[in-house]
Amino acid sequence: MDLIRDAAGIRAAADAARAGGRAVGLVPTMGAFHDGHRSLIRRARDDRDMVIVSIFVNPLQFGPGEDFERYPRDEERDLGDSELLGADLVFAPTVEEMYPEGYPPEVTVDPGPLGERLEGAARPGHFRGVVTAVARLLNLAGPCAAYFGEKDAQQLAVIRRMVRTLGFPVEVVACPIVRESDGLAMSSRNAYLSPEEREAAGCLFLALCEAAELARKGERDAAVLAAAMAREVGATPLALLDDVAVVDEATFEEIRDITGPARAVVAARFGPTRLIDNLLLPM
Ligand code: AMP
Repeated sequence: MDLIRDAAGIRAAADAARAGGRAVGLVPTMGAFHDGHRSLIRRARDDRDMVIVSIFVNPLQFGPGEDFERYPRDEERDLGDSELLGADLVFAPTVEEMYPEGYPPEVTVDPGPLGERLEGAARPGHFRGVVTAVARLLNLAGPCAAYFGEKDAQQLAVIRRMVRTLGFPVEVVACPIVRESDGLAMSSRNAYLSPEEREAAGCLFLALCEAAELARKGERDAAVLAAAMAREVGATPLALLDDVAVVDEATFEEIRDITGPARAVVAARFGPTRLIDNLLLPM
C-alpha cells in the first residue's frame, strides 16, 4: 500500500489505474478510524479494483470554537487498518496540498439551501467546507465510485446534489450506519464522552426507534414522531436536545406528512459534545 501526500501523486496513481482498466473507489475520511470507516473501505474493496482512502481533517468544515484542534488523529493506526483492509493507496494531504491557492481558499463550493438547514443551521459554513474539500478530492481522483456513510445523511444528500449539479463523473455510494451494541452510531466524537455521557448517548437511537415504531404502526404526522423523539431525549439526564426532524429521503426537506420515503434525524449535546444520528423510517 502506498502513502501519498501530494495532489499530483494521487491524480497520477488514479489515472494510471484507469489506464490499466481498473475501476477506482474513493473513501474520503477524517481519520481516527472506527468500524464505520472500516465498513466503507471494505465495501469499496469488494466493489472496485483500486481503493483510495483519503485522510484529511478538513479545517474548512469546522466553525470557530469547534473541535478542529482536538479532533482525534491517529495516522499510524489508520494506515495499518487501511493496509489490512486491502486499500491500495492512502492519500493524506497537507492543508497546502488540499488548498494550493492558500488557506482559507477564496473559491469555495456553495452547497445551496440544502446546506443551510438542520446541521447547516447549527454549524454555519460546515457544508460549504465539506463540499469544497470533497469536490477537490473527487477532482483529483477522477472518474470513480465514492463511498459515504448514511451516518452523515445530510452530508450525503448535499454531496449527491453537488455531484449531479456540477456533473462529476462519480457514482456516490451510500453505506449503512455501523452501530455500537446499544445502538449508538459509531463516531470519532464518541471518544469525547465521559462514561456517564456515553451511557446517556444511547437515547439517540432509542428516540429514532420510537419514531420508527410509530411510523410502522401507521403514524404519518411528522410532528407526532418528532415529539416522541424529543420526549425520549428530553427524559435522558445529561442529554440536551439540539434538533429533531423528519425529512424527505430524497431532498432532505423537513416534511409534515409522511407520504414517501422519509428519514428521522436527531442531534443532541452530551456535555460539550454534539452527536447526530438518523434512521430511515419504515413505510
Ligand atoms: P468522518 O471521518 O467522520 O468524516 O467520516 C468519514 C466517512 O465515514 C463519512 O462518509 C461518514 O459518513 C462515514 N461514517 C462515519 N461514521 C459512520 C458509521 N457509524 N457508520 C457508517 N459510516 C460512517
